[in-house]
Amino acid sequence: MNTYRIAAIPGDGIGTEVIAAGLEVLAALATRDGSFRIEPVHFDWGSNRYLREGAMMPADGLDQIKPFDAIYFGSAGDPRVPDHISLWGLRLAICQPFEQYANVRPARILPGIESPLRGVGPGDLDWVIVRENSEGEYSGAGGRVHRGFGSEVGLDVAVFTRSGVERIQRFALELARSRPRKLLTLVTKSNAQRHGMVMWDAIFEELKGDYPEVTTDKMLVDAMTTRMVLNPASLDTIVATNLHADVLSDLAAALTGSLGLAPTANLNPERDFPSMFEPIHGSAFDIMGQGIANPIGAFWSAAMMLEHLGEAGAASALISAIEQVTGAGRVRTRDLGGEATTAEVTGAVIAAIAGANA
Ligand code: NAD
Ligand code: MN
Repeated sequence: MNTYRIAAIPGDGIGTEVIAAGLEVLAALATRDGSFRIEPVHFDWGSNRYLREGAMMPADGLDQIKPFDAIYFGSAGDPRVPDHISLWGLRLAICQPFEQYANVRPARILPGIESPLRGVGPGDLDWVIVRENSEGEYSGAGGRVHRGFGSEVGLDVAVFTRSGVERIQRFALELARSRPRKLLTLVTKSNAQRHGMVMWDAIFEELKGDYPEVTTDKMLVDAMTTRMVLNPASLDTIVATNLHADVLSDLAAALTGSLGLAPTANLNPERDFPSMFEPIHGSAFDIMGQGIANPIGAFWSAAMMLEHLGEAGAASALISAIEQVTGAGRVRTRDLGGEATTAEVTGAVIAAIAGANA
């Protein structure tokens, strides 16, 4: 029997609520399947720890989680802690050293879910956004000097390296090739940003010849937002920088019905380090502690984790359980226009998983 050791880092806000729900669903899947076990170990890292001890995670935190098979992450962000501290102290502190350079964000309209786009249903919007996740605009390079004076300067330097750009573009080309439409759109802003973004375009021109089966095209990021809204069916796989894809994937999530539905995998494709799986949403200060967060983004992320671990059967059982619940339309959280609690959605998905056994 395969046993997977999962480092569970629920973090802050609704992260704690949806990860608890996701672990329940994973346990139900393992029971149904009978051929693998999930062994979660909890790490209470996050803003409460920061307020107590001055750091989001311990100094040897990376050593503690490195031996795990995967990381299941909730969210970092608390109203009492500046966002740049909570983000850099936990999520980015894991992604960057563990070389989780491929951030994969599927966006698809689930059965029974209504897109805010008129006349767009399941099948009209089925994308995977590949976000560069290790450098670019979120490299952390920069500085702030002459603080508080009229001459104050704040710099965020976007760092693009040939090796970093090549590996994410190859990853996206390979992913596009594995999908039925074999279509990849490169997103940059190479009219205004005339160095790193022009290099992105040039490297893409070099690499795409190695993937003759893949049809490619190219968009500027501003025009991409309008294409996503006005012609979603024209897109399939999308690759973009850290910042651009961060923004585009929140838009994509909203177009599929709710930010609460969308999953993410932060992959270290070489498997030198554990990969990390998380819903794309944040701590949701406005609804935290109420038990009404939509757990489906966390469930879908758990399905991506199972897929990564090699449990494709359990991953697709989970996806179909989610689709059964959204398709039936009776149990939905407030962000989807319903009244159900996190616990009720979790119960419905677990019932669908158990039903698949019968
Ligand atoms: P957010 O995703 O937390 O919330 C945006 C809106 O979407 C809110 O109205 C919220 O109620 C709603 N929403 C989000 N997830 C939902 C869910 N599962 N169910 C129902 N509604 C949901 O984004 P924000 O408000 O910009 O950020 C809040 C905090 O979270 C900040 O501290 C931010 O830095 C942090 N954050 C962390 C991560 C991460 O750790 N990966 C990602 C995004 C934001
Ligand atoms: Mn984001």
